[in-house]
Amino acid sequence: MNGSAAIDRVVLVVLDGLRPDAVDAFRLDHVAELAGRGATTFNARTVTPSVTAAAMASLFTGLAPARHGVVSDRFHVPRRRGPVDPLPRVLTAAGLPSSAFVGSLPALYAGLARQIARHIGLGRAVCSGETARAIVASARPTLVQQEHGLIVLHWPDADRAGHEHGWMSRPYEAGARAMDQALGDLLGIVSRTGEDNTLIIALADHGGGGAVANDHDSVHPADQTIPIILAGAGVETGVLAGPVSLLDVPPTVLWALGVTCPPSYEGRVLTEAFATAEPRVVVAA
Ligand SMILES: [Zn+2]
Repeated sequence: MNGSAAIDRVVLVVLDGLRPDAVDAFRLDHVAELAGRGATTFNARTVTPSVTAAAMASLFTGLAPARHGVVSDRFHVPRRRGPVDPLPRVLTAAGLPSSAFVGSLPALYAGLARQIARHIGLGRAVCSGETARAIVASARPTLVQQEHGLIVLHWPDADRAGHEHGWMSRPYEAGARAMDQALGDLLGIVSRTGEDNTLIIALADHGGGGAVANDHDSVHPADQTIPIILAGAGVETGVLAGPVSLLDVPPTVLWALGVTCPPSYEGRVLTEAFATAEPRVVVAA
């Protein structure tokens, strides 16, 4: 990788339930701007089942739901098949920190979330705020201070409105716009704090309104098709034309940070998103 494109950290933002066609339909300016300067596909696939818990577990393990075992949004103890190497643990072993910021949870689940966070090796896990913008605000100090490793944010607005009122409804539009504004906030913070060495990955965990107007758990393309945008350090502007899966994100995060990917990971590195396809040579941890 050329010297100016060294990637020290990845900021990964999950836009829960954001359908790719919402970006144009609702003029999500910040998403569109990021997509325009990034390496982008509006035709990627999420995992099956296309539900948040399964997709988040896939992002944190590199495994499809059939292997990591989180196969529904209802709480259950996952039954995993084969080795699991959680992404934050892999990064910790390489000397890199990981943080995650999600919305507030009921007390019972907050305790559980902390347990899961510890289990997968997250150094910092914050559950605070009802909206995307509040979650960005809770992440601000970390976005300013954490110069290396991985920072994950999850935003609930569009998904929540989609379940209540249907995907692509007016309230869903408002939720999508709220996430777009939060993306503006996030990009503003990143541009003031190390834009040159930050890789930004924005994606949805699933779509919605496919088989059922106010849900997303089916194999319908509207439920399974997601946007994936890579932008910032090292990225070459363009369209990711080939098949791209949510499962390609974890190996790409590791590759970008110069960390060896465990063989258990199922996806591939999205090398076509980067100006040079050589893995980064890590000079110092
Ligand atoms: Zn949902």
